[in-house]
Amino acid sequence: MTSTLQRRRLLKLLGMSFLGTSFSSCVTSPARATTVNWGYIGKTGPANWGELSPEFQLCQIGRQQTPIDLQIADVKNAHSKNQDLLVINYQPTALHLINNGKTIQVNYKTGSYLKYAHQSFELLQFHFHHFSEHRINGKSYDMELHFVHRSQTGNLAVMGVFLQAGAFNPALQIIWDAMPQQQGLETRIEDINIDASQFLPAEHRFLTYSGSLTTPPCSENVLWCVMETPIEASRSQIAKFSQIFPHNARPLQPRNDRVVIEVL
Ligand SMILES: [Zn+2]
Repeated sequence: MTSTLQRRRLLKLLGMSFLGTSFSSCVTSPARATTVNWGYIGKTGPANWGELSPEFQLCQIGRQQTPIDLQIADVKNAHSKNQDLLVINYQPTALHLINNGKTIQVNYKTGSYLKYAHQSFELLQFHFHHFSEHRINGKSYDMELHFVHRSQTGNLAVMGVFLQAGAFNPALQIIWDAMPQQQGLETRIEDINIDASQFLPAEHRFLTYSGSLTTPPCSENVLWCVMETPIEASRSQIAKFSQIFPHNARPLQPRNDRVVIEVL
């Protein structure tokens, strides 16, 4: 009963109406949206996304856009201590990956999920940004991983994990060794497994708020959980990604009146 009440309170705080979220670029794409060319620089860059297509309007006029600067001092209702609030169950999967022209994305088979406040979201894919999109207290990181999940009713939850320069990352290297240099179709390597759980920090303290996709159409009502502790990758591993994607991070968006909650 306590957890149910806590869940309701948290969802209310987050302003999560869970009426369903339409989304395209991260997972599946409505036909029109895929034909609109968008990018990270110049006329098709983030400042103009909202004008590239009527379907991208939220990129410009949305009030709950991602990424934001997560200021720990502003975090409200912190310390919602509940061991059961976030449950992550990621299983190994055969390595299916794609260079979609915007990022390197690893597609996941069914069976891995994240449960937040007892709502279950299935892991669909994870992908990378360089530099990080979120910041914590103004600090950006070298890269950010996004684990994209969807509930049975179509709600989205994305978990962000920062990558900073440091130790060589063997799990990351499995992906990097297979990384397509050019945009193309999905590569399927059935005899190599990848395990998303190897990209999680040991410390699961995270910040949660209601945001959006960080790529057009910038759909809102996305539950965000951003891990506070970064994981590491070597400088040369980060360089290998940045040679293909020198900059695939959306600039910071206004927090407006949104509440950010820290969960320990
Ligand atoms: Zn992303």
